[in-house]
Amino acid sequence: MTSDHDTGTIERLDSGITELAGYRDPDRNGWTREVFSAPYRESRQWTAARMRDAGLDVSTDPAGNIIGRLEGASPNAPALVTGSHTDTVDGGGRFDGIVGVVGAIEAARQLRESGTRLSRDLLVVDFLGEESNVFGLSCLGSRAAARELTPADLDRKDYRGVSLGQAYTDFGLDPDALTQVQWARKPLHAFLELHIEQGPTLEQRQLPLGIVTAITGIERFIATFSGSADHAGTTAMTDRQDAMIAAAEAVLAVRREGCGAPTHGVATTTRVESESRSPNVVPSLVRMMSEVRSVDTSWLGGVKGRLTGEILAKAGEYGVDVNFDWSTDNEVVHASPGVQDVVASAADTLGIPWMPIPSGATHDAVHMATLAPMGMIFLPSRAGKSHCPEEWSDTSDIATGVTALVHALQALDTADLTRVTATP
Ligand SMILES: [Zn+2]
Repeated sequence: MTSDHDTGTIERLDSGITELAGYRDPDRNGWTREVFSAPYRESRQWTAARMRDAGLDVSTDPAGNIIGRLEGASPNAPALVTGSHTDTVDGGGRFDGIVGVVGAIEAARQLRESGTRLSRDLLVVDFLGEESNVFGLSCLGSRAAARELTPADLDRKDYRGVSLGQAYTDFGLDPDALTQVQWARKPLHAFLELHIEQGPTLEQRQLPLGIVTAITGIERFIATFSGSADHAGTTAMTDRQDAMIAAAEAVLAVRREGCGAPTHGVATTTRVESESRSPNVVPSLVRMMSEVRSVDTSWLGGVKGRLTGEILAKAGEYGVDVNFDWSTDNEVVHASPGVQDVVASAADTLGIPWMPIPSGATHDAVHMATLAPMGMIFLPSRAGKSHCPEEWSDTSDIATGVTALVHALQALDTADLTRVTATP
């Protein structure tokens, strides 16, 4: 498709990604631009300037989301919204989120320059702080837009004891104003986010586009294994209540659960720590942290019962007690069938091959789905790498995504999304 792309588009996408990548923390690995950091603060001025240059009216809402508005024929009609985020994880890459902001600005520019007037406003959004941060909370801007950011969230503290509310204040935002974010009071027509896949499927299938069917649900737990501290030299193997062995069995149980998922399912243990610091004491207290993800609601719903039962039974064989602290990070969120259909028709009309694809990562779209029919367009990630410096997507693929986005936004503008349609 490369030859079809306008050289101005290619140049603007290239320069956008390269210039944004210049705003990075020089002391960290990769292209680090974490929420509330100095490089993030500076990069937001770049984003606002790029929006203005594309002909958009730029404002910042009380939640810190940067919004570029392309006025439609009926500004009071429910708006169309597109966008993503420009913050990165520590040691992250140049494309996650960024493609969806730079690409959306380019899409708005193309609409404006082609003289296309949508019937409603198009809002291009750079959502504040999408990545999980030192406060353990992701999607700050879209969460606030959806009125899902709570006073308890603002009390969360980082490792230095600084609260999230204080971080907002230090960044020049009023935490008390977060409850006044207007989004939820006005109906929105649809939300469509362009994003890199962050996995290998599109590249493996040599497809330039994925249309997201659902965004993964996440169940997490911290398990505490309590055994008995004994002399590691004198206690026979058969007489031990070794918390580490019970945890080791649990790590494998978590892996088996992920391997047994019927469709898209993954399970990961990220941390196992023992209270014992001496090499000659049988571990008596071990904590482990794991998560399970899937877009299959019924399978994910059964995970808690299955894993708890299996881990308890195995630990019981070793005389070890287990305490579970389960939490649901995200429920499974399905993309709107209507939005999926509109994007699929646009891709078909343009001759862009695509596949339906689940998202194993969470996105701002999860929260925007509470405000409007939601959809996502995925672009190929080289070797599936993401959240690392090697993250890469070809500019021609990004330009193809922008073309699909432009046509999908035009079709969404006039689509009746209340009509129930079949999932592709
Ligand atoms: Zn992202």
